[in-house]
Amino acid sequence: MSVISDMVVPARAPYSFTMKAGQVMRIIDLESQQAVDALFYNPHDLSERYSAQDTLAAQAAAGGKYYLETGSVLLSNEGRAMVTITADTCGFHDTNAGACSCESNTVRFGHETRFMHACRENFLVELGKYGMGKRDLVSNVNFFMNVPIRPNGELTVDDGVSEPGGYVELRAEMDVLVLISNCPQVNNPCNGFNPTPIRIIVSEGV
Ligand SMILES: [Zn+2]
Repeated sequence: MSVISDMVVPARAPYSFTMKAGQVMRIIDLESQQAVDALFYNPHDLSERYSAQDTLAAQAAAGGKYYLETGSVLLSNEGRAMVTITADTCGFHDTNAGACSCESNTVRFGHETRFMHACRENFLVELGKYGMGKRDLVSNVNFFMNVPIRPNGELTVDDGVSEPGGYVELRAEMDVLVLISNCPQVNNPCNGFNPTPIRIIVSEGV
């Protein structure tokens, strides 16, 4: 398997890159319990992008589960397959809780968190590189994030369960622009209250 890129993304940092159809991306949670927010766009038509709604609706219709796992196909707003999860050591990934933002931090954790760095800001930095902005920021995937649903229907963010060196692998089903936010959140346990680096390896598919 020939490696195309091998990048360590520092704690709290954004990153973006393009994969060609058939290439494979491995996201490695180097130190454990690190949430990795991700968005996907068609680089040839940026109006086509990841759709959490279409992905979960199709998964539910197929009798699938609420979380993303090995075999999950991530769909675009055009209903086309963008990437497929081909391997995973974590077991489940969230695509409901959204990305953390300065605004939601103030509501959830108090006004003093207003100026803490957040995933939404990371995404906006990367979106700007491709001529996109706030209106292009859609619901995202949270790899390695543990978001259980309580019996009363409440959705919570709990301690991450991924182990050091845990990984998730995705195969591009079309050319795809990938945006990453290595989540900087320290007000809930999604990063074990300690954001850490991740590693992303892109390679030719076998
Ligand atoms: Zn975040």
